[in-house]
This record gives sequence, C-alpha cells and structure tokens, in this order.
Amino acid sequence: MSVITPFDPWKSKLCTCPFKYSFSPYVGCYHGCLYCYASSYIPRFSEVRAKKDVIKQLNKEISKIKQNKYVTIANSNDPYQPIEEKLKLTREALKIFSSHEFKIMIVTKSSLVLRDLDILKKSRAAVSITITTLDENKAKRLEPNAPSPEKRLKAIKILSENNIPTIARIDPIIPLINDEEIDNLVKSVAEAGANHIVSSTYKVKLDSWKRMKKEFPAEMEKLKYLYFGKGERINGYYYLPKEYRYKLMKKVWENTKKFNITFAACREGFLNLNSAKTCDGSHLIL
Ligand code: SF4
Repeated sequence: MSVITPFDPWKSKLCTCPFKYSFSPYVGCYHGCLYCYASSYIPRFSEVRAKKDVIKQLNKEISKIKQNKYVTIANSNDPYQPIEEKLKLTREALKIFSSHEFKIMIVTKSSLVLRDLDILKKSRAAVSITITTLDENKAKRLEPNAPSPEKRLKAIKILSENNIPTIARIDPIIPLINDEEIDNLVKSVAEAGANHIVSSTYKVKLDSWKRMKKEFPAEMEKLKYLYFGKGERINGYYYLPKEYRYKLMKKVWENTKKFNITFAACREGFLNLNSAKTCDGSHLIL
C-alpha cells in the first residue's frame, strides 16, 4: 500500500483545498479526541502503530513524484504522537520531503513539533495547530491525551517568532461546548502570532456522538434535535442546520477581522467568508 496518497480521494464537494498529497508515518492516534472523525473509519484507532518500513517506502515512492509538490502531514492522525519522540519517523520524513523541495504543511496538536524547528526553518513549510478551547479542564475532557491549550498556544508563538507560517485550526466548534469561546480563541491565537485561521463546526459520526454523549450528556441531549432533526446529512456526516453553521462561522470570521488575520471555513460551503487565497493556509508556504 502507498504511503504517499492524494488528499481527499472521495473528492468531497465541500472541500476547497488545493491538490495535495497526504502522508503519515503512523496509523491511529493517541490523543483520544471525543469528536474525532478518523476513528469511524480506522480500526483500533487508539492503538498507535508505525507503518511497516515507512521511511524506506517513502524514499521509493517520492522519487516517482515530481518535486515541488504539496504534502500535508498528517490528515487522519497527528504526526507527533508520543512514540514519535523515540521513533523520529516524522522527523525523518520531513527531511526527505524537504530535500525533494516539497511544500510541507504539518497538522498537529502537539508542541513536539518544536523539536523539528531546525528542519522547518530550512524547508518550504507551514504548521497548522488545532486548538478548540482555552479551558484546561474542558480540554482534558474533550481531548484527553492531547497537549494542553497552553502548550499549543506557546507552540504557535515560538513557530511564529521563528518565521514559520502558522495556521490555527479552531476546529471543531461545538455548540454549548466551545462556541462561547470563539472571541477569546481568535484573540489568543492571533496574539500568539498565527497568520491564518481555519474553522469548522462539529460534524457528527455516530461513534463520536456516542463519546460526546457519554462525557457531555446534558449538552448533547439539547443538541440532538439540531443535528438529527433539523440538520443536514452530507457525505455521511450529520451537520447542524445551514443557518446555524453560518452564524458560527461568521462569528469566527468577524473576530479575525479585528486582528487583521485571514480566515477560511472548512467544508461548510461558505466561500463568501473566506478571506485568503487558500482555505488550508498553503498560500503562506513560499
Ligand atoms: S488529534 Fe486528530 S486524529 Fe488524533 S484523535 Fe484528535 S481529532 Fe482524531
């Protein structure tokens, strides 16, 4: 099986990303986010395992792809799992992509990305850090094993001080859980130095709904009708009603304007709110 694959092979109509490749040295994710989508299609998702001979395979495949392409690391998990500290597979892969002059987008919740600043500084790279709440207790409930919001904000700050283009993913926004934090989230990431914000509302898969319901029963009971009664069904996900999603995304967008920072909504269908050349922030990679 290939280790470099095209991103979004299903070609979702709501995806506005430019063409890119996707790569991850690992299968599964340790962070345990309740709202995770990837756990619905990857078996034994919480058991993180390195792909067999992944670096050898990457070297083989990369020579068949033209240089100067764009790759995101990673899309179905976090490339900075705790075992990455020891195995350093993401670090090795970064060196390889960089030597082939790929444009690289790291997508992570982990401050371990700072270990690889030396490579990132010499590469055509940007880093996208996901942050959903500033409340440490809520983060522990929502993303039990992921690094704290404070560590993620600090990572944005350090990356930006080192002139690495930095994107903040405020994703997902979940009504009654973190929608009241939108103003503060935008302010915090903008002040930390993020260049661009991507945001999206929570789209329900039934396994993530079960986890959310177990941890936040009262809130999910209130949201049930919005998602399963009034909401939309798109590409196998339950979405909030369109007007509700628009209201939430508009709120993020309005806040980004206060800080002169660009914005894009991810897989929502609200192109009029996008204020950057690309939704994922890849225009920042020069
Ligand atoms: S970091 Fe991403 S892939 Fe990992 S559990 Fe959280 S949402 Fe899923």
